[in-house]
Amino acid sequence: MIPASFEYFSPRTVPEAVHLLARYGPEAKLLAGGHSLVPLMKLRLAAPRYIIDLNRIDGLSYIREEDGVLRLGALTRHAEIEHSELIRARYPLLADAARVISDPLVRNMGTIGGSLAHADPAGDWGAAMLAAGAEVVAVGPGGTRTIPIDGFFEGTFVTALRPDEVLTEIRLPRAAKDAGGAYLKLERKVGDFAIAAVGVGLLLDGGGTCQQVGIGLCNVGPISLRAAQASRLLSGRKPEESVLARAAEAAAAECDPADDLRGPADYKRDMVRVLTLRALRLAVQRARGGA
Ligand SMILES: Cc1cc2nc3c(=O)[nH]c(=O)nc-3n(C[C@H](O)[C@H](O)[C@H](O)COP(=O)(O)OP(=O)(O)OC[C@H]3O[C@@H](n4cnc5c(N)ncnc54)[C@H](O)[C@@H]3O)c2cc1C
Repeated sequence: MIPASFEYFSPRTVPEAVHLLARYGPEAKLLAGGHSLVPLMKLRLAAPRYIIDLNRIDGLSYIREEDGVLRLGALTRHAEIEHSELIRARYPLLADAARVISDPLVRNMGTIGGSLAHADPAGDWGAAMLAAGAEVVAVGPGGTRTIPIDGFFEGTFVTALRPDEVLTEIRLPRAAKDAGGAYLKLERKVGDFAIAAVGVGLLLDGGGTCQQVGIGLCNVGPISLRAAQASRLLSGRKPEESVLARAAEAAAAECDPADDLRGPADYKRDMVRVLTLRALRLAVQRARGGA
């Protein structure tokens, strides 16, 4: 349980971190909250020769609405999102997801940027960001680029980030008046990764019809998954119970769970159906102004 030795850097700016990444290449790893990387290093499943700690860089931790988007700094801790008044009041999908990530110890240290960059299909932020229609901002030697969340997860623990890029910000559409969201997670015990979890984000137009429906699925496939067919079934329709039920069945058909210690695949698939139905009901209720 003791990591291999490494050289430690503590840059004060993003360009400095990018420079170090470019210099040390694949032998270097960024450190954010350390709650995925450090356990891997202790188990010697990762043995980076160079650690580049982002924690001394000012201005990477924030939650603010600006220019029609919600901006989350990459170093924003799960607990800061969980306790943010803005998030609680206007972004229920994010508030729900933040509060079910592990336990307070993990939430106090783990960061949203680290979670997305780690790309664990069991990570709750991946599914929540797919549901919310997020974009990821990355800074590298060539400048800044924006990556839509749909192209971000390329494989299990693999993202579209280049080895010399730092994820600096996550952007979400600013909450509209008739928007609703929810994130529901089934876990074996409090603090565990999900057996399955489902995030929903949607908008009801003036006539009460579903628009901009996003459904993200957690830990039921090799990457965080979007239930695209389920979303299509809802778009342009009134959220009647029969429509929600059909969408939930579609989401279950779209996931790709494996048998493991959290249960057999067919059980997880059915839990996706149940969680999708419940999350859709809750998101609709919230969009109509309910709690
Ligand atoms: C006991 C335990 C239970 C957990 N349960 C859950 C759970 O239920 N749900 C859940 O979602 N998560 C869970 N986690 C994971 C936790 O949320 C982590 O905090 C998160 O996955 C990684 O964030 P971090 O800031 O700790 O990243 P780190 O561990 O510091 O880094 C993770 C990876 O991302 C890279 N990285 C970090 N920041 C950046 C950046 N800005 N740009 C580019 N690359 C970067 C690192 O190089 C590393 O490869 C759990 C962790 C533990 C230890």
